[in-house]
Amino acid sequence: VTSGLREAGLLHSAALIGGRWVDADDGGSFGVVDPANGQELGRVARCGPAETRRAIEAAEAAQPAWRARTAKERARILRAWADLLSAHEDDLARLLTLEQGKPLAESRAEIAYGAAFFEWFGEQAKRLDGEVVPPHHADKRVLVTREPVGVTGGITPWNFPVAMPARKAAPALAAGCAMVLKPAEQTPLSALAVAELGVRAGLPPGVFNVVTGDAEDAPLIGEELTGNPTVRKVGFTGSTAVGKLLMAQCAPQVTRISLELGGNAPFIVFDDADLEAAIAGALICKFRNSGQTCISANRILVQDRIHDDFVDGLVKAASELPVGNGLDPDTRVGPLIDRQGYEKVADHVADARERGADVLLGGESHALGGTFWQPTVLSGVDETMAMSHDETFGPVAGVRRFRTEDEAITVANSTRYGLASYFYARDVARVWRVSEALEFGIVGVNTGLISTEIAPFGGYKESGLGREGSQHGIDDWVELKYHCLGEI
Ligand code: ADP
Repeated sequence: VTSGLREAGLLHSAALIGGRWVDADDGGSFGVVDPANGQELGRVARCGPAETRRAIEAAEAAQPAWRARTAKERARILRAWADLLSAHEDDLARLLTLEQGKPLAESRAEIAYGAAFFEWFGEQAKRLDGEVVPPHHADKRVLVTREPVGVTGGITPWNFPVAMPARKAAPALAAGCAMVLKPAEQTPLSALAVAELGVRAGLPPGVFNVVTGDAEDAPLIGEELTGNPTVRKVGFTGSTAVGKLLMAQCAPQVTRISLELGGNAPFIVFDDADLEAAIAGALICKFRNSGQTCISANRILVQDRIHDDFVDGLVKAASELPVGNGLDPDTRVGPLIDRQGYEKVADHVADARERGADVLLGGESHALGGTFWQPTVLSGVDETMAMSHDETFGPVAGVRRFRTEDEAITVANSTRYGLASYFYARDVARVWRVSEALEFGIVGVNTGLISTEIAPFGGYKESGLGREGSQHGIDDWVELKYHCLGEI
């Protein structure tokens, strides 16, 4: 299944350190598996602290010259990288679907989204303006410049194997930083293919390095990335538990960290909503990537008067979603990433059932076996159920009925998370009121799709620190320097 990719030079099994593709020191490797059928797609180097340290040293050696290039020169390379991602969209989408399981159309959309970050931040690099501030004394002049933080680390999850590395690397490299990236153990092949295209785009050796490792290697690689004093900044997307651990590991060196962590997105449908639009929005927001995104609708709250019609419509629409191998062009819902992900979905559904939720659609593993789960709709979900507190990360829509706007807002905000939120309403005053009342970094109003490189993506509360995308996204990779000129 991977021969075309091999011929295209996009299938790597080695780590990328200092511009060279290298095996693990002890020659160790781990298998990458197709979640649709359990077959091994390839083997990848098992790196540890020693390889990570060398990658950090390579980044340290490369960073001064990279930083010294003009923004336009860096932008040109990032633009070439974006163009190569687009030019290889067919191959990359196939690889992404093979190792991650999502439908091909979603893989294509992800590659376009990832490429857009390289394009966007290349442009933003040219706008890293400084400031000349009116001075506080007549004989002084006050200037502010923005400098790259230095060597950086990136640690990324499996749900967006191309876009997450892009969201870390693009602003870092645009700012003039060098990076060592550790992709998720489930999906390292896409990250290595992205790195290959970066090399072809003209990245100097050492500016972007990839160290791969298995689940047991991740904590050791993470300790090196957070504990090595050469690394001045770490960007992480993943679980809240690991994010907190990494933040603690960064504390002794005061290493900066930005975190994109879990969510528990409310999706509120008010009774003045456009019903068809709300159903379509819920469908995409819940079932895209089989529900395995940190911005997936996790708690669907529907107002009394519209509740039954909404639920009927959602059940009908979800029942028509074809489940299958993502490589089949008809597939809309692929497998879950692995056994652990599957068990969590099964546990959440069993728990909701026991506590009185009604299963209106699905509720069981899919006949395809493996980690396939039936698109599921539950009603009568309440706060006693695990799925109200914790991301299900599966194709399971749990619906809860509410009566008043205040009640919906109280329920929506009663979570430690604060990444994405969504609501459907037409009354303009309500749109403003609810948007302002939601304690989330992202509010989708009458839409279930909100990700774009032009807007700041990030969470309140325990959903994270910092923002990715937009004119603000580069700030996380930049230091401000204040120059005070005296005796003028
Ligand atoms: P998920 O639930 O999405 O798998 P994780 O937080 O476990 O989320 O994984 C996200 C990324 O963090 C992956 O690249 C994984 O290998 C890495 N990771 C997991 N545990 C650690 C750790 N202790 N230190 C550093 N990285 C880790």
